[in-house]
Amino acid sequence: MEKALSTTCQICSRPLSDPKSIKNGKGDVCAKKFSGILGTIGTSVEEINTLAKIDDPVVNRWVHLVARAIKARQVRDAARFLAAARHAGGLSRS
Ligand SMILES: [Zn+2]
Repeated sequence: MEKALSTTCQICSRPLSDPKSIKNGKGDVCAKKFSGILGTIGTSVEEINTLAKIDDPVVNRWVHLVARAIKARQVRDAARFLAAARHAGGLSRS
């Protein structure tokens, strides 16, 4: 069975109506802001999705913290949590 898609925005929790936004889990405006901040901290939606798919509670926790920091516009924290998520997920680039 397919996992039910969220009908609220992951970033601002507002209800989503557009099928594309529902699939993305974010409204258009939030998706743009989100990817802008991801670019600032040197990552991408693709990498976050890759990290989010890793079945590891430690990685999942860091990814959750990255999303929360971005939501709160705490870019420096987001960068720190991203580094921890990469490290925990074995995606460290250093
Ligand atoms: Zn939103």
